[in-house]
Amino acid sequence: MTINVAVIGSGPSGFYTVDALMKSDKDVRVDIIERLPTPFGLIRAGVAPDHQTTKKVVRVYEKTALADGVGFYGNVEVGRDVTMEELKDMYDAIVLAVGAPRDRKLGIPGEDKAGVFGSADFVGWYNGHPDFTDLQPDLNTSTVVVIGNGNVAVDVARVLVKTEEEMTATDIADHAADAIKASPITDVYMVGRRGPIEAKFTNVELREMGKLDNCTPIIDPSILPDGVEGEWSDRDLRLKERNLATMKEFPDVDPAGKDKRVHFSFYAKPIEILGGDTVEGIRMEHTKVEDGRSVGTGEFFDISCGLVIPAIGYFSDPFPGVPFDEGNGIVVHNEGRVGDGVYAVGWIKRGPTGVIGSNKPDGETAAAQILEDIADGSKPGREALEAHLAERSVRIVGYKDWQTIDAAEVSNAKPGSPRRKFVTVDAMVAALD
Ligand code: NAP
Repeated sequence: MTINVAVIGSGPSGFYTVDALMKSDKDVRVDIIERLPTPFGLIRAGVAPDHQTTKKVVRVYEKTALADGVGFYGNVEVGRDVTMEELKDMYDAIVLAVGAPRDRKLGIPGEDKAGVFGSADFVGWYNGHPDFTDLQPDLNTSTVVVIGNGNVAVDVARVLVKTEEEMTATDIADHAADAIKASPITDVYMVGRRGPIEAKFTNVELREMGKLDNCTPIIDPSILPDGVEGEWSDRDLRLKERNLATMKEFPDVDPAGKDKRVHFSFYAKPIEILGGDTVEGIRMEHTKVEDGRSVGTGEFFDISCGLVIPAIGYFSDPFPGVPFDEGNGIVVHNEGRVGDGVYAVGWIKRGPTGVIGSNKPDGETAAAQILEDIADGSKPGREALEAHLAERSVRIVGYKDWQTIDAAEVSNAKPGSPRRKFVTVDAMVAALD
């Protein structure tokens, strides 16, 4: 009998799992269940709006979504519209591909002041994710501090300093484009708790910071070592050498005619967010790196700023009906097997690391495990889900519906822009009526 699988979440890890399942010789049917009316997870809401080439990967996912045997159930939230227990009665296997939507916390005093926005929220806001449309960050400040030296920190810094012209060919949400355009931001400090060699950004992203129309990358050349020392894999060594070479070129970038600066600051960790109810600055402690770890030196300094964006990594939400490892922010699993017909892939399985393609092996592993564990299907699958959702009057957004939303976004686009996103669930659903 057909093996019926539900994949919860339609980001890269979900789609690679569906693709791997559909490539098997067995009789498999897969339904993707997605909370939002729009698919593609972090490709739509995480990848920076000015990195449109990266977003083209959705063409591959679209082929998967339209393949025979694959169903898409958007606007359906597990826990609200259907429970895990109900899904277990309907499907032979359930794959959790729900990512890591929460911000890791700094754990320092003042973190809850107005003007502190974790990167998950802030990126969601400028990318038009419906959960963050109402974030309304006050950008009426000259100075922003971004904590962290990963690619998300670089994305946030870049989006804040690019010109309106540089953002034309992007799908940044209107509310964010307008707020950034109106803001007096001139200086963004991107602060790493370790050094330039330990920084995690990749080289394409770093190089971009030296080529911006109205922004100069500022770096103190005296902190840049002659070469890369330490024990690194060949791949990491090459990356770090390229990053070091790029950072050494930054002091040569001509600041003439440029109004904005991104300051690459290293060896400093956040101690306290300063101000009253609202952020007025951040206290940092100088650090040194010992055995690869950042260690405070006991010397402190303050940066005055009106906005702090910790971009220090993500965390998964506990998923209803599934054991959760709070310490690591992932589900409890054994090589991806959660137990009781449930599997995990992507960031909820392994934490928030790696690039889009890192999810492919996860999907292949989960598909192989499902087909190894389940010889034959015994559950009803999609018919049971559809009957359940109809009984609860859930407005399912199918893949064809998404294509209608997609076409409307594309046709609403400003000249030069790929799309104008709907930024609320109601507006997305209204586009179908
Ligand atoms: P990340 O690469 O893990 O970087 C997190 C940064 O935050 C690190 O510099 C880390 O420092 C720092 N940090 C963590 N805890 C801290 C604390 N308590 N205080 C101060 N600093 C702290 O994470 P990410 O930037 O969120 O990116 C997530 C994943 O998505 C990465 O694999 C990234 O490459 C990927 N991504 C890729 C792209 C792209 O390819 N263009 C774009 C966006 C994201 P330590 O190193 O000292 O821990």
